[in-house]
Amino acid sequence: GCFPLSQDLSTHSGTVTILFSGNIRVLCRIKPLIQTDKKEEDTPTPVTLNPANDCRITVLYKARERSFELDKVFIPEATQEVVFEEIEPLVTSCIDGYNICIFAYGQTGSGKTYTMEGETDNPGINQRALRALFKEIETRTGTWSYTVSLNLVEIYNEHLRDLLGKDPQEKLEIKLNPDGSGHLHVPGLTLVEVKRFQDIRKVLALGRKNRVTQSTNMNERSSRSHVLLTVTVSGTEINTDTKTVGKMNLVDLAGSERVWKSGAEGERLKEAQNINKSLLALADVIQALRAKQNHVPFRNSKLTYLLQDSLGKGNKTVMVVQISSLEENVGETMCSLKFAQRVCKVELGPAARRV
Ligand code: ADP
Repeated sequence: GCFPLSQDLSTHSGTVTILFSGNIRVLCRIKPLIQTDKKEEDTPTPVTLNPANDCRITVLYKARERSFELDKVFIPEATQEVVFEEIEPLVTSCIDGYNICIFAYGQTGSGKTYTMEGETDNPGINQRALRALFKEIETRTGTWSYTVSLNLVEIYNEHLRDLLGKDPQEKLEIKLNPDGSGHLHVPGLTLVEVKRFQDIRKVLALGRKNRVTQSTNMNERSSRSHVLLTVTVSGTEINTDTKTVGKMNLVDLAGSERVWKSGAEGERLKEAQNINKSLLALADVIQALRAKQNHVPFRNSKLTYLLQDSLGKGNKTVMVVQISSLEENVGETMCSLKFAQRVCKVELGPAARRV
């Protein structure tokens, strides 16, 4: 969790509110400078890390240093392997029957898709998690048997679309399961059973293709929609016939940038508000779970409604908050870290490595 906290806490002036670390881990990944950022290479960065404390990050914003303490902050050079090490334990939990959620949060261009999908020869969390899943399942051969199935949806403008379906244009609805279990289901949603890790790429490629063909402007679409890959793992212990079901939800969230910056009007404003609605709803849900409130407002957005049975109540969540280290993005960086803090609930005094 965000613990242990250093003894010198009381000497810092920031707000310190610690509820509990629970089952939500908040990680921060800083996007390295890439080719298109090179012009910024010599300008000072507002983001500072403390080499002695990989939980703390400090941002110089409007001439004031603000520090945040999260569960872990990755340096810009952190590799996909290193990031995945933080995720791997959740894969085992999923096989053991937990529902888990992994989110990438941040402004457009901060590296969410890089972290979740990655590149062909350097995959991100999605493929690494699936590879680890099949590997772990293999070690249980003979004692447990498992089936693994995937579905892939996009939430755009608060509409749900099936990226593996015959008609990705069709809008799907989330319904209560008629069996009275209180569980949700999405009638018509395509579930693809996958036998081997090698088959995953084909399925994900189909999803990508469907996503591209239904959008007129892919860049805009991808910054405004959430993509949710759900892996359902059903297990049977061979000797005892004990059953388990775990779900792994891998979510590439819409860009967190605020409405006024885009100068959005009309239809675009509606889209932006819907994005904010889902993101705010997600923050509200996590906050309600952390504060152990009786009412958790899952139904306030499609995203949270869909994830209702995977957030909280003994499930496990990792939020990867992506940030840019560029001065031109410092406002968004502050917003993202405040969001991260709202989830992690710790804000501390200043700290030493400019990145
Ligand atoms: P987002 O999904 O948040 O809009 P992207 O994942 O598309 O952002 O990242 C924007 C650009 O930065 C892409 O070209 C991506 O390849 C690159 N990028 C992001 N993170 C990294 C990283 N850790 N290492 C190398 N390149 C990265």
